[in-house]
Amino acid sequence: MAWYPGAERMELQPESDGQPAIVPTQLILHSIAAPWTPQRIFEYWRDSTNLESHFGLGYDGAIAQYIGTQTRADANMYANRRPDGTGAVSVESASNLQHTDPWTDAQVETLIRLGVWMHQQHGIPLRVCRTWDDPGYGYHRLFPQWSDGGTACPGDARVRQFLEAVLPGIVARAGGGPLPTPRTPTPPPPAPEPAVARYQVTIGGLVYGYGAHGPHVREVGEALVAHGFGTHYRSGPDEDWRDPDTLNYADYQRSLGYSGADADGVPGESSLRGLLGHLPAPRVVSLAHVRAAARTDPGAEQGHRTYGDEVRIVEQALVDEGLLDPVWVDGSLGTRTIEAYAGFQRRLGYQGAQADGIPGQRSLTELGDRHGFTVTD
Ligand SMILES: [Zn+2]
Repeated sequence: MAWYPGAERMELQPESDGQPAIVPTQLILHSIAAPWTPQRIFEYWRDSTNLESHFGLGYDGAIAQYIGTQTRADANMYANRRPDGTGAVSVESASNLQHTDPWTDAQVETLIRLGVWMHQQHGIPLRVCRTWDDPGYGYHRLFPQWSDGGTACPGDARVRQFLEAVLPGIVARAGGGPLPTPRTPTPPPPAPEPAVARYQVTIGGLVYGYGAHGPHVREVGEALVAHGFGTHYRSGPDEDWRDPDTLNYADYQRSLGYSGADADGVPGESSLRGLLGHLPAPRVVSLAHVRAAARTDPGAEQGHRTYGDEVRIVEQALVDEGLLDPVWVDGSLGTRTIEAYAGFQRRLGYQGAQADGIPGQRSLTELGDRHGFTVTD
């Protein structure tokens, strides 16, 4: 078991003690399609799915380690542990929901430091993996064997950063030349685990399937539970679509007589309409309405509401960013909400009077991209 001294240790059980040993020969980088902290990533793997990585990296560069680097983690399909006992160490990183955004400077710095440690601790050679089982550094979508038949993780911006900043940074700082790669013969690997469908579909303007996020995801989960298809939830349902949502939805599809790919747990329009009795519509927030609320509500009596439904959507997004206490999701764009919004603006790099807590086009659109609402004028 090796634990990176630069990471906060949040040991994930039973995986950490229960999974077989590996000789780590690769470091593979991921984006988790959610703007999560290392603590939130830990809770996700503890409560919701067993496709964990060794490390989780927040937007601010904070990193946690969940499993020792000489124990198998399950995010990289056939590279988790190969027949010769070698395997990949993996890092999930906070991203927007489509994982299209670049890593922040703080994330790049942490990835470089971790990469240097992996070289020094485990002798990972300072190069891009040339094949799926070749020792080195890589990113999840580099080889199809690293996922269940292909993945979009991470997005183009992060692939560019991997090649232009992260790996060159590791090479420059590790120096001293690569160490020999350890290889140890070991017994045959365990049988492959069943894969859960992880693609997304868009129905009525909203995204469903693994990684989807928003109140409509919670609505589906609650309807599944209400219809008796909640057996795979250990916690939730909530606003994040995870593997248990897919497994429960598949049970529901089979109850309708679907089979094969039609019962893979990713919704179709008719099964969704049957489950909910309607199709959820996208959430829309008007910039002008929210700005009007920001001018009116703080000066009015406590709890005054202007366009409360739209403000509530913005407030919930600020809660999901970790910037607002859930008790303030009240539809009133008061002082607390403005302070929280200013925090979001600073997170985007706004300074001084630009981070005044009054929503603008660019910041509100970014918040909507991250938390599943559309912004109109
Ligand atoms: Zn990935």
